[in-house]
Amino acid sequence: MNLPAFDRYGSPLYVFHEPDFRANYSHFLHSMRSEYEKYTPAYSFKTNYTPYICGLIREMGGYAEVVSLMEYKLARKIGFEPAEIIYNGPDKKSEIYEALSDGSIINADSYGEVLRICEYAQADPGHHYEFGLRVNLDLGQDFVSRFGMDEQDIERSFEYVKSIPNAEIVGLHCHISRCRGIEAWEKRTRIMLGLADRFFDHPLKYIDLGSGMFGVMDDELAAQFDDIPSYDDYASVTCRLVNEHYRDYDISDRPVLFTEPGTTLINKYISLVSHVDEIKTVRGRTFAVLDCSEHNLGEICTLKKVPVEVIAAPDHPTDRPLLKDVDLVGYTCLEQDVMYTGCNGPLAVGDTVVFHNVGGYSNVLKPPFIRPGCAMITLRDDGSILEIKRAETDDDVMSTYVFE
Ligand SMILES: *Cc1c(COP(=O)(O)O)cnc(C)c1O
Repeated sequence: MNLPAFDRYGSPLYVFHEPDFRANYSHFLHSMRSEYEKYTPAYSFKTNYTPYICGLIREMGGYAEVVSLMEYKLARKIGFEPAEIIYNGPDKKSEIYEALSDGSIINADSYGEVLRICEYAQADPGHHYEFGLRVNLDLGQDFVSRFGMDEQDIERSFEYVKSIPNAEIVGLHCHISRCRGIEAWEKRTRIMLGLADRFFDHPLKYIDLGSGMFGVMDDELAAQFDDIPSYDDYASVTCRLVNEHYRDYDISDRPVLFTEPGTTLINKYISLVSHVDEIKTVRGRTFAVLDCSEHNLGEICTLKKVPVEVIAAPDHPTDRPLLKDVDLVGYTCLEQDVMYTGCNGPLAVGDTVVFHNVGGYSNVLKPPFIRPGCAMITLRDDGSILEIKRAETDDDVMSTYVFE
C-alpha cells in the first residue's frame, strides 16, 4: 500500500481492495453456478451498504438483499430493478407495499405480515401479488431464532393465502446466523427442499437459503476457526443438491436459488489504516493508543484477533523499541475499547497500524460516539485511488440536534 498517498484522506481510513473483491466475487459465483445455473447471490446491504461497493455487485450481476426502506431506496438509487431486490426483515413498515407492487421479492417474517400483504392485495384485485415466507429452522443451534415462521404458521399461511384469488406464495426463505459449518448448510438445504415438496405441487419460483458462509480470509484469522469450507464445498451441499432435486424438470421450471452473502463477499476486502498516537505503561501493562476505535473495526475485533500489520513511519530510526504484549486500544474513553491484545514487535508513536479483514459490520455500525466517522478510499484495478466516502464532519454529527 502506498501510505503517503493516503495522507490527504485523514486517519483513520478505510481502504477497499477492489480488484481482490471482484476476483473473490467471481470465484464464489463460479463455484455456485457450475453446480446450479439458476443461482444468484443477493448481497446483504446491512453488512456494508457503501454505495460504490453495492454498485460493483450490480455491475457483476448480483441482486440486493435489503431489510429496510432506507436500504430499498438505496438499492433503487444505485440502479437495481425492483425484481433484483430481495426485501427481508422482521419489521417491514407499510411502505413495503410499494416494493411489493413494483415486483420486488418479499419474504414475510410472520403470519401477521402474511395477513397484511393479503389485505393489501385484496384492495387491488386487478394485480397479482406474489411473495415468499421466511422459514424458522432448527439446525440444532444453541438458541431459538426469533426470525421466520415455524411449521404451524407456515401451514396457516398457505391455508389462508389459498383463499385470496390474487395472492400467491411463490418462494421459501431461511437464514440462520452463527451456523457457518458445512453440515449445517447441508441440513438447511435438505430441510428447505423437503418443505418445497410438501407445500408446492409444482416447483416453486425460488428457494433462498440466506447467508452465513465463511469467506476467504487471511491465514492469521482463519487459524482461529475450526474448519473453513471452500466455496466448492458449500456449492456441493447447496447448488448440487438443488440441481439433483429438480433435474427432471426443464430449466425454465426449476426454481431460482438465492443465497444472501454479506460477510462472505466483503469482509476480507476492507482494511483500516490507523496511527499510534501514544504509548504508555501503567502498572506494568503497555498500551498503544491509536486514532481509531473498536467501533471502526466492528464486532469482529472483540470476537477474534484481526490480522494486524505495523508499518514504521519512513523517518523513524530502524532500531525502534521492541515491545512485548502490548494492548492496542482506541481513542474512546471506554475501558473495553481494546482492539488487539498481545501485540509484539517494534512499535513507536507515529507508526501506522493496519487492521485487515474488517469489511463487515464496521463502517455501517460506527456510532457517532465521541468522534465522527472516517473516510473510505478504493484502490482500483489501474492502481488509482478514489474516495468513496468522505470523512464525516462535526457538523454531520450535530446537524440533527436543535441548538438554543
Ligand atoms: C444479516 C443477514 C444476511 C447477511 O449475513 P452475513 O453473515 O453478513 O453474510 C443475509 N440475510 C439476512 C436475512 C440477514 O439478516
